[in-house]
Amino acid sequence: MDAPVDSAEIEGIPAEEAFAILGNETRLEVLRTLWEAEGPCSFADLRRKVAPGDKGNFSYHLGKLTGHFVRKTDEGYVLRFAGEQVVRAVLAGTITSDPSIPPDTTSERCLYCGGTVEMVYDEEVISVRCTDCGGALGDGYPDGTYMHYEFPPAGLVGRGREEIIDAAHVLYDSKIAPMMKGVCPECAGRIAVSHDVCPDHETGDSGLCPECDTRYEVWSRYECENCLYSRRTVMWFAALNHPAVIAFFHRRGLDEKVPLRKLTSDNARFVRDITETAVETDPYRFRVTVPVDGDTLVVSLDENLDILSVDHGASETG
Ligand SMILES: [Zn+2]
Ligand SMILES: [Zn+2]
Ligand SMILES: [Zn+2]
Repeated sequence: MDAPVDSAEIEGIPAEEAFAILGNETRLEVLRTLWEAEGPCSFADLRRKVAPGDKGNFSYHLGKLTGHFVRKTDEGYVLRFAGEQVVRAVLAGTITSDPSIPPDTTSERCLYCGGTVEMVYDEEVISVRCTDCGGALGDGYPDGTYMHYEFPPAGLVGRGREEIIDAAHVLYDSKIAPMMKGVCPECAGRIAVSHDVCPDHETGDSGLCPECDTRYEVWSRYECENCLYSRRTVMWFAALNHPAVIAFFHRRGLDEKVPLRKLTSDNARFVRDITETAVETDPYRFRVTVPVDGDTLVVSLDENLDILSVDHGASETG
């Protein structure tokens, strides 16, 4: 067993102190200037750019940043990863802007029913819904919703509605992928996974189940033990990580880099009829059935969503 490293080795400054360090314009300007610099910046260079005519405060502020957000090297000052992350958060636009896009229809089609799809962006959240069926999420979301999550404002720039939806799918999958392998995409912390299983799942005409008010029987929540970043996903997303499933799709025409976008009209025929169920509850064992063009794959997963087996099932009869 790989023993955890001693927490004493990874202790740093308290969060309050880190926030306090950043609460100053000169210091943020230092981070921005180092970000824009081609390479390491000497003290004199940095002072000339950030605080020309400064009498001594600059040195104090730079000292506060050094160690935590900025590193002093023989060649000059450079950003540490933490400093880069601060600048990136600003560049993502979530701190500096609050754009919104009013609800409007798109040329995207609903993967479930082929109906018209509407998209809206507000409070840094993109929401996509079908105007003709129940979508995937009932409870608390507008009718027909099947995508609803945070998307940084910078992602809106230079993209049309359909491109934004597409980018949101890509971003979602790229955040979920490391979480499915136990690593937080935001802080690299450890991920815990838990499940919500609907005990009497049955979907009606709208595609939603009256009991759980969603399309899917099993939902999984991935949460970081450190920063509490969390994502709730349809459990069967995990089944699509197996190379046998990708090969199955590929032989039937999937032509997309993995991880493939899930709830899109492009990939509708691969994912539209997937079903999932809990075959045992203590501990959980799950079965995911993936029917495409009359062939079926059956994927078994354990409670950690590790894949136990992938088998060819009986051909679809109805
Ligand atoms: Zn629909
Ligand atoms: Zn249900
Ligand atoms: Zn985290």
